[in-house]
Amino acid sequence: IENLRSPFYYVDSVSARSRWKPRPRFGHKGTFGHSLLLVGSYGKIGAAILSTRACLRSGSGLVSVSLPRAGYQIMQTAAPEAMVLADPSEKIITELPPELEKYAVVGLGPGIGQAAETKKMLGNLLEKVKVPLVLDADALNLLAADKSLLPKLPPETILTPHPKEFERLTQPFTDDFERLKRLREFCQQYRCYVVLKGANTCIGTPSGNHFFNSTGNPGMATGGSGDVLTGIITALRAQGYPAEDACILGVYIHGLAGDFAKNEKGETALIASDIIENLGKAFKTLE
Ligand code: AMP
Ligand code: MG
Repeated sequence: IENLRSPFYYVDSVSARSRWKPRPRFGHKGTFGHSLLLVGSYGKIGAAILSTRACLRSGSGLVSVSLPRAGYQIMQTAAPEAMVLADPSEKIITELPPELEKYAVVGLGPGIGQAAETKKMLGNLLEKVKVPLVLDADALNLLAADKSLLPKLPPETILTPHPKEFERLTQPFTDDFERLKRLREFCQQYRCYVVLKGANTCIGTPSGNHFFNSTGNPGMATGGSGDVLTGIITALRAQGYPAEDACILGVYIHGLAGDFAKNEKGETALIASDIIENLGKAFKTLE
């Protein structure tokens, strides 16, 4: 009880609307930010495509994606709106693209695998990057494998683990109370935002607040669903939303798009691409 005294909030349409900012009438591509995604590896180019398409569908002014050579043509075909940078390696990401400072945000993790060279690239990124970061999936597993990287997370970094990934970052937990306690401790210790995914995703903030999401359904428990969320949150960060608003709006819209997808397809058949297809409908409820 002592450890759970911090405020708890529920994210619904009212709280989402209060954080939403309409696109300025005279806005241009530059106004809405340039996202850089570092995603994919051989056999997991699909994860890269899902996060890229979701980023494009979530309002980022421009989207660049850096991925292994094997994914170059696939990505150009699957997401013609994105600019594609090819890593020198055929199968994994080994290098940071040049001119990191020209991007508004860097999103890293979906499908990247856990090769040593990729970990080195992550260490490099944490040293160099001056823009907001969104870390997911294998980027989190790489951090968990070398916890000495954790204190190097730039302030306001957003991490989006599912419960297993979060356990690897901290310690195994036996119940939901312990999980929440770890969440609060972790966010305070590393000054980061953690989107702990699942039914009623919980967002932890460095100030010790917890926000529980109201949208979403079990149909979203399907491969690639989390990669879509990474793209959404990255795009919101690119548009200048503060980390807390990007997390809250991101999980709300992701869940709402999943609920619209459920109306069309049902829970059983729902796949991650259906969430992306319904992002427009979800954003329209706020526009
Ligand atoms: P990942 O495990 O990285 O693919 O992420 C799964 C995504 O689906 C997260 O955004 C979860 O919040 C969402 N999700 C998974 N299961 C459920 C559920 N039972 N209810 C609502 N959302 C879910
Ligand atoms: Mg995932």
